[in-house]
Amino acid sequence: MGAGAGALFGIPGWLRPMSVGVDTLTYMDPSLPLRQDIVWFREHVADLNVAHVWIHLPRAAATDPEVLHAVDRFQSEIESAPAVITAVGPTTPDVNEAINAGFEEIKRLEQLLSTWIAESELSRVNAAAGQKPVLVSPETMTVVRRSLQIAEVTEGAFNIAVGPAVAAWGVSAEPRIPTTQELESLKPLMDLHAVHADVLERTIYLEKAGMRIDVGGIGKGYAADQAVMAMKKAGAVAGVVALSGDIKTFGHLPDGKTFPVAIQHPRKEGALLAEIDLQDEAISTAGDYERFFEKNGIRYHHILDPRTLQPARGCQSVSVIAKEGIWADGLDTGIFVLGADRGMELIEQLDDVEAIIVDQEGKVHISSGLRHRVRLSAEVDRHNREQP
Ligand code: ADP
Ligand code: MG
Repeated sequence: MGAGAGALFGIPGWLRPMSVGVDTLTYMDPSLPLRQDIVWFREHVADLNVAHVWIHLPRAAATDPEVLHAVDRFQSEIESAPAVITAVGPTTPDVNEAINAGFEEIKRLEQLLSTWIAESELSRVNAAAGQKPVLVSPETMTVVRRSLQIAEVTEGAFNIAVGPAVAAWGVSAEPRIPTTQELESLKPLMDLHAVHADVLERTIYLEKAGMRIDVGGIGKGYAADQAVMAMKKAGAVAGVVALSGDIKTFGHLPDGKTFPVAIQHPRKEGALLAEIDLQDEAISTAGDYERFFEKNGIRYHHILDPRTLQPARGCQSVSVIAKEGIWADGLDTGIFVLGADRGMELIEQLDDVEAIIVDQEGKVHISSGLRHRVRLSAEVDRHNREQP
């Protein structure tokens, strides 16, 4: 996304496309015989007009006798976003069934969690704010409970009650700059103590009228986790679910390779920051370069600091790697708000969670467990060494 390119806030949906041509995270591996397909993937992942394109890949030489194999990859429109699913399985029908199961699961969850769908469970919870508890599915309960847990871990930096502030900034409609008084008046609605998620009753109640929860910062990670479960159930032995900046992988390719993923450079359109191979892991990136607008030289973007209700200023991008997508997605947003220093401190305290953080000056910070795995692009590496 080029600077000043305007109203990127205009893309609706919690499952939404990247703004332009290249995904935040691009699945690619130049050494594989899947090259053509990968080029296709890179060019078309954000192309809104492509629906249900599929490419049958050549059978790769098998090195693992128990896995063998068809590999297919589909892109589908999930409400507003292209979702791309790759599956590896014993036969082509198995693979296709797994891919369909993955897409079906994502669509099902979107019907529960998207605040763009008026009849979704979360929309009904929001509409009943200040009035009454609303009965929800176990899935919605899981996402909300986990969001509250991540809020605790991030000292309130991750806060799903930011909904009214997200609306005030016009994040999903017309972008605008709200006045300080307007934001001040919304602050009482960000109170997470007023979000009551009752597991036994399976109800969610927002105590104050006007409250609105928004799971845009965590929902795609959860959807990727669930899609992977559905794919495994349908017989896939390996695969990738990519929902714009949220990618979950499982198993490995027929030739034994794990899934390489590239992270988009936050300030250089189309350039890569780093690459990393994933196996049974999820990666999620939160950045200030996906949906933003500029006014008087100031960049306004879609991740808000719950303390000020202004766009968080500490980072350019945060990529988190974890076993679960829900955890990676929730944490990337929370850590983006915490900033590079406090954010990295937190990552180092958590087991099985790693991160690559680009701070406001453009310096790249890599968590200790990841340093031997990440391949920084040459220019980024050089730039990083020159920094104090
Ligand atoms: P995406 O991958 O869609 O960009 P992120 O994980 O970066 O999603 O989260 C951004 C979204 O999270 C925003 O569009 C908004 O809906 C929501 N959000 C913004 N600020 C916060 C916050 N402090 N805590 C939780 N969610 C937030
Ligand atoms: Mg997130």
